[in-house]
Amino acid sequence: MALGPNTGESATAKGSPGAVVAAGTKDLLLTDAFVITMNPTRDVITNGYVWIRGDSIHKVGTMASLGETGGVERRSMGDHVIMPGLINTHNHISSFGLRAMQDWRGFPGDSAMYAGLRVLDGEGGYLGSAVGLLEQLQGGITTCKALEAGSDELMLGCVRASEESGARVAIARYGMDAADNAAPNLIVPEDVRDTVDGAIQSLDFLRSKVTSPLVTVSPDAFSVMRVSKEMMLALHEYAVKHNLRFGMHAGATENEQKECLAKNGIRIVPYLDSLGVLNPRLLIGHGSWFDLDECTLVAKRGAAISHCSVNNGGRSLVKEWLELGIKVGIGTDGPTSNNSQDLWEVAKFAIYNQRIRHRGWGSSETALELLTIRGAEAIGMADRIGSLEAGKAADLICIDTIRPTLSPTTSLLSNLIKAHDRSAVRHVMVNGAMVINDGQHRSFDSRKLCRDLSKWAERAQTKSGLLQHYKSSSPFRYI
Ligand SMILES: [Zn+2]
Repeated sequence: MALGPNTGESATAKGSPGAVVAAGTKDLLLTDAFVITMNPTRDVITNGYVWIRGDSIHKVGTMASLGETGGVERRSMGDHVIMPGLINTHNHISSFGLRAMQDWRGFPGDSAMYAGLRVLDGEGGYLGSAVGLLEQLQGGITTCKALEAGSDELMLGCVRASEESGARVAIARYGMDAADNAAPNLIVPEDVRDTVDGAIQSLDFLRSKVTSPLVTVSPDAFSVMRVSKEMMLALHEYAVKHNLRFGMHAGATENEQKECLAKNGIRIVPYLDSLGVLNPRLLIGHGSWFDLDECTLVAKRGAAISHCSVNNGGRSLVKEWLELGIKVGIGTDGPTSNNSQDLWEVAKFAIYNQRIRHRGWGSSETALELLTIRGAEAIGMADRIGSLEAGKAADLICIDTIRPTLSPTTSLLSNLIKAHDRSAVRHVMVNGAMVINDGQHRSFDSRKLCRDLSKWAERAQTKSGLLQHYKSSSPFRYI
């Protein structure tokens, strides 16, 4: 079912002729839906409405309580779930042109990651980010936390694609500068290494270039061991000065714990605490190799964790994190380490991985919380997104329930997580604007973008040697 004219897009965008209106010019009432609110009492309205006014939610309730609505435009969403848009708390959107790099094992030289960073340019950054955000929007992700770095040209491509996508994108521009000769395996090659001044200047530059209220830029330290203390402290100070969020990868691997112990004499979380950066401003990516004492300290300091359950989640103490009261969201991580950007799959993994350690733990309701309101809390945006409540931003998705995967609808909450088919997401609204209508983006030419990204990838991966390595290291024969 197409939602028709309410695309919420400006008249300059592509789409059905005459089928566009400016965002926020009128009310829209979505009726007759199964509404999962994620409000504080977790109300599920089996026959309800969501009333959108401009960029915000005006009212949510049962159809029986709706009453007289005057001339407000109504769309029946019978047979659909309406729920808050999903929140991807950890991703790397500019590297979609390098999707599947996790499979390029044994790449000669310093690493496939650095080889990839060397060839990422403005075009690759734009195309990768556009395709990555399109994939996410089509699967119901309305907000994406994107950790990125590179030249200003690359980062501008990332900003431009973010703005054009219509998604809510929190770009975290990360610094990476380890150059300690005493730890040679951690040294960041000089040609992809930041300086403190360079990273700060890039942050100032990018923040001056953002024009959309849906896109933000904040500082991030790439990881605990590939960032100097000076860089870590300077980026954190920048975040404090401008009242921005701060983040980093931490505890993603066992090796990183060993490296931190060897270099600093303490484990990762106490080390971050000793620097003064472990606080409510901090979002930690992964945290998989934190022990229980470290988790307790994370909780005490009020930092949040993004759990990337598909690519390294088996070891994570998610049950304990939630019991300790840590703000936990889930993330797909980037396309280089988890090819798929299916956050539904990530949510299912988040529950099932824990069952290796705690039989029967978790529920679809827990997974739905991680996808929405808990994700919003983890990235510090729960006052605006993560639930369908009056006054919050109108970020929502409509899911067609008449699908084999979602039938019977008597067990809808369970089916959404454990039998989900992301293509059931038909309409996606961000800030009151219908960005995906019946599966189609309001302005992106999906086929052209995908073809252009593949062409870029063929050129860039050949130039870097990544493509030759990918093919030659396969046991299959390319002819
Ligand atoms: Zn990551």
